[in-house]
Amino acid sequence: MTTPILQVRGLSVAYGGIQAVKGIDLEVREGELVTLIGANGAGKTTTLKAITGTLPQCRIAGHVDYAGAPIHGLSSFALVKRGLAMVPEGRGVFARMTIRENLLMGAYSRNDKAGIEADIDKWFGIFPRLRERANQLAGTMSGGEQQMLAMARALMSHPKLLLLDEPSMGLSPLMVERIFEVVREVSAQGVTILLVEQNARMALQAAHRGYVMDSGAISMSGEASAMLDDPRVRQAYLGEE
Ligand code: ATP
Repeated sequence: MTTPILQVRGLSVAYGGIQAVKGIDLEVREGELVTLIGANGAGKTTTLKAITGTLPQCRIAGHVDYAGAPIHGLSSFALVKRGLAMVPEGRGVFARMTIRENLLMGAYSRNDKAGIEADIDKWFGIFPRLRERANQLAGTMSGGEQQMLAMARALMSHPKLLLLDEPSMGLSPLMVERIFEVVREVSAQGVTILLVEQNARMALQAAHRGYVMDSGAISMSGEASAMLDDPRVRQAYLGEE
């Protein structure tokens, strides 16, 4: 078994009196695609924010180790330098920059100019829509286009671990298919991924392992294929009787 690249132990997050995450354990091993599924408000986004340190430390208890060392207190630049990139819910593209400029921003931790240009070209190949609109302001693109751009921008930093928060949210069925195809492709290229999703079926079909989050706690975990067959998952998260 490979070593965990991300290890979360006893993680709790409180917003005032509300305990949004209740002492969860979770790990992602090198090369894995792991999904965290659960209903609205279960605490998935809060978990990702606690991992990347985008919540005030006073709200958080427990341990998050990345590549064998604690990461709390590191800036997002330092995290990206260490190979950890995140695509937040709602994409977070730089609205007043063009698509090309957004991609260049994603590569700010690199200085191999030729490699950066080659990567931009690669992403334009994967998402032709981005090439067609290379000089358009990112804020004027559709939700699906912004999602593609956000993923491509995060991958421009050549992350070892990519955290994705609901990449399928608000997208058309066709676009959801495309986004999941790319997630699988990126995983097949060796990038380790932690994928937060409400689309449990697509997420479990793509992932190696999964965790179910329910009211701030992990209620179930296991191989994704086994979870797809689990009657409790089928009933609660796959909309089956
Ligand atoms: P969704 O899929 O709807 O985004 P989620 O599983 O990602 O849900 P979170 O966004 O992590 O859930 O929210 C977990 C709980 O914490 C919810 O009850 C939410 O209302 C609460 N919460 C989230 N952010 C804050 C905040 N800044 N202040 C107070 N409560 C918050």
